[in-house]
Amino acid sequence: MFLWFIGTSVATIWFVFHDKKFAYRLVVAGALAPDAIEVFLGHAGPLHSVVTMVAIMAAVMLITYGRKKSRSKMLAVVIGMFLHLVFDGAFANTEMFWWPLWGFEFGDYALPVFDRGLWNIPLELIGGALLYWTYTNVKDTNA
Ligand SMILES: [Zn+2]
Repeated sequence: MFLWFIGTSVATIWFVFHDKKFAYRLVVAGALAPDAIEVFLGHAGPLHSVVTMVAIMAAVMLITYGRKKSRSKMLAVVIGMFLHLVFDGAFANTEMFWWPLWGFEFGDYALPVFDRGLWNIPLELIGGALLYWTYTNVKDTNA
């Protein structure tokens, strides 16, 4: 729900880039945004579609053309949103994941986080462990 997305996104970015200066807070904001926004819809919406993510990514590239600093910040948010889709298992629901390629109508799907029910508990623990793992790694890299 929270730690799962925070832990997986932060650990992924650290694992891939090994960059202490990466905008981790913005990645986390992006990773939490799809659920934080669509919980008010009452069902999973466009922010759980990879097509929407690609569109947002393209928009960011256009809007921030020639503005390197704001581009990297906004990309951090979009990367976080992408990672949300990955670690939400959004691809498991084909119609939701590829919206609107097979029709604009949005099915009445619950947010994957609610579908998981009690599975969220071990996932939160794993997320917390990943955060701790990343924290100790970053700290050791500092030395
Ligand atoms: Zn979600």
